[in-house]
Amino acid sequence: FAEVENFDPEIAKAIADETGRQRENIELIASENLVSKAVMSAMGSTLTNKYAEGYPGKRYYGGCEYVDVVENLARDRAMKLFNCTYANVQPHSGAQANMTVFFALMNPGDTFMGMNLDHGGHLTHGSPVNMSGKYFHCVPYGVNDEGFIDYDEVERIAKDCKPKLIVAGASAYARKIDFKRFREIADEVGAYLMVDMAHIAGLVAAGYHESPIPYAHVVTTTTHKTLRGPRGGMILSSEEFAKEVNFNKALFPGIQGGPLMHVIAAKAVCFKEALDPSFKEYGKNIIDNAQALAKGLQSRGIKIVSGGTDNHLMLVDLADKGLTGKEVEKWLDAAHITCNKNTIPNDPQSPFVTSGIRLGTAAVTTRGFRTDDMDKVAEAIALIINDPEGNKEKATAIVKTLTDKYPLYE
Ligand code: PLP
Repeated sequence: FAEVENFDPEIAKAIADETGRQRENIELIASENLVSKAVMSAMGSTLTNKYAEGYPGKRYYGGCEYVDVVENLARDRAMKLFNCTYANVQPHSGAQANMTVFFALMNPGDTFMGMNLDHGGHLTHGSPVNMSGKYFHCVPYGVNDEGFIDYDEVERIAKDCKPKLIVAGASAYARKIDFKRFREIADEVGAYLMVDMAHIAGLVAAGYHESPIPYAHVVTTTTHKTLRGPRGGMILSSEEFAKEVNFNKALFPGIQGGPLMHVIAAKAVCFKEALDPSFKEYGKNIIDNAQALAKGLQSRGIKIVSGGTDNHLMLVDLADKGLTGKEVEKWLDAAHITCNKNTIPNDPQSPFVTSGIRLGTAAVTTRGFRTDDMDKVAEAIALIINDPEGNKEKATAIVKTLTDKYPLYE
């Protein structure tokens, strides 16, 4: 960052401060990760200079021969990683990947089903404040009292509202998703099935969550969560279906302009990393760590929605302790543990206050934490939940031992 330091010390300081924060904090935000230096270098490359509207071999600009190599490698690796025959690596984000699919498969006003935001769905799955809920008619489904997706209820709602599209996938759901059952329900009512695997993409790549590819008409994802790539999105499908509904055109020129070629290069690097056998071990460690954290919290009297986790995340239910997610997020932050407040199913509090926090283990797993470390993290969280002021020093000391043990970006 020497150039930034010389030219723009204010921004250089903010970057250095953020790097320091990442080093000193235990990162438990379930949608975040820590990318490799190779991924980061690809993002900070000359590719940021290049306009490349269109697709490899069919661009609207000259000089695209090298960025074509980059995009073709990214597409080929994505298809190999997820075992499919179509990949579009251009979406700037997960939201744009989802929007592309909505516009390719539906007309404004059409009915679709998505998981209720309050039950763990994402804003782009039909929230009234998002394009998906404003342009399309969303009929939500959710989880039962135990915190599991109620597939019978999904089927009943689908038969009743006859959606054109069913969206499976979530941002705060700790259990395995039964994609086969979703497809059966979609087929029963003549709907398309879209799976948004943003959160679990890295686990799917590593083989620790069933792949949605054999069941969904189309799969969307982000590349920056468990998959551990740059911030961005992607669309996967079969070549035939993608051609039939023209996802390429729905994305460009449908909703985006020029692709971010530096980010696409970083996606390609991320896919290469994910194709390496070591990624499998990382996927297993993420889940082992999440289960160790859940167990460590439960053994200290803290309630986990649905009683545990099958993936990288969990929702902590603070309602019976009379606490809110908002205050616990703030107290944990003061002890250098970063997480986010999150609604729990049937939450009496507003989304700005909430009765829960969401914890994820992708970033700490990348950093090197193992199950015994996760028990220490659980101890620090329990100390804060039980007495935020009285135990702050003790919890912060536990955090420091762990962050010192696993140095970051040295
Ligand atoms: N889909 C799911 C399931 C998500 O959890 C998220 C982000 O958290 C997105 C889509 C949106 O991704 P982005 O923030 O890149 O637009």
